[in-house]
Amino acid sequence: MSEAATPATMALSGAPALEYPFQAPRPDGSVVEVAPGVLWARIGMPLALNHINVWLLRGDDGWTLVDTGLPTDETRALWEHIVAGQLGGEPVRAVVCTHFHYDHAGLASWMTERFGVPLYMSLGEFLMMRALGDATASVPHPEERRFIARSGMPDERAERLFEALRRDPYLPPRLAQFRRLRGGDVLAIGPRRWKVIIGEGHSPEHVCLYSAQDRLLIGGDQLLPRITSNVMVNAFEPDGNPLAQWFDSLDRLERCAHDTLVLPSHQGVYRGLHTRVRQLREHHRQQLEEVLRIVGRGDGCTSYEVMLGLYPRLRDPEQDLLALGETAAHLAWLRERGALECRLDKDDAFRYKVTQAAGDEDTHW
Ligand SMILES: [Zn+2]
Repeated sequence: MSEAATPATMALSGAPALEYPFQAPRPDGSVVEVAPGVLWARIGMPLALNHINVWLLRGDDGWTLVDTGLPTDETRALWEHIVAGQLGGEPVRAVVCTHFHYDHAGLASWMTERFGVPLYMSLGEFLMMRALGDATASVPHPEERRFIARSGMPDERAERLFEALRRDPYLPPRLAQFRRLRGGDVLAIGPRRWKVIIGEGHSPEHVCLYSAQDRLLIGGDQLLPRITSNVMVNAFEPDGNPLAQWFDSLDRLERCAHDTLVLPSHQGVYRGLHTRVRQLREHHRQQLEEVLRIVGRGDGCTSYEVMLGLYPRLRDPEQDLLALGETAAHLAWLRERGALECRLDKDDAFRYKVTQAAGDEDTHW
């Protein structure tokens, strides 16, 4: 969610700016070595976010590839080109996917078959990918329909949203098998030991890989430098509080060394992890203030109405889906803190109101 959100690039007064020590590779199979045996390649995407960064890690007897790009013919061709040209004749040994989103894992099935190697993922991401593959065939599930209806979104706009889900062009083939990564696991690749740090809130069990000895963090979508990752409530877990999980994840990532080189899935490689963590917290704090202000204006607001207040320039159903989920995440956080209450109204939509306690110390952050 970048377009309509508060710009995530705001400078905090007194905070040092992020530092970008490398020029990004072109998305043509070129690579940049960001640390010994750690290559950065970039894969183009036909989306508003027009690329994903992938990482090639040199081991003793071959390479581990991290993240895949979207499942398209162009991506497959680019991987063939990268593997033929950049691995020094050594084989691919493994594929790791940070999380299930299709730009990160959409080609996992093809890559593991093509190179005859195992796929490493967390259980949460693997199962989510399987579940979405199954669910999309019968969209919308009645519960999904009710989840959107209760946001107060008008029927016609909701139908466009379901239609967009149905025609997702990047739905990958079903994953068959994986090897499980858990928080705290250590992957030994060449001379380096990568510890798994789990992020939550953007996806269920997002894998980040941290090398403490070399101060390197493969951050996936957890610490993007210039945009904020989508944190959303979805129909699977309508009472979830993903923003609380996101804040907890930032706490975990903040324990990495301050001079860590962050390898994010989009935009540039940077230093300034602690600054970025503070910026992301500040971004959501401002969003929470804004939600309270919008809800406080009227006599009960649906999440759809709050969404229109937060994101007045939404252009298509895909953006609606992200914006509604992101709005619901901020509402859920405030409700759990006791700053908002919510009831079903006569039209079977949830209406939020600011509580008396909204100004209290312990409802704040
Ligand atoms: Zn993602």
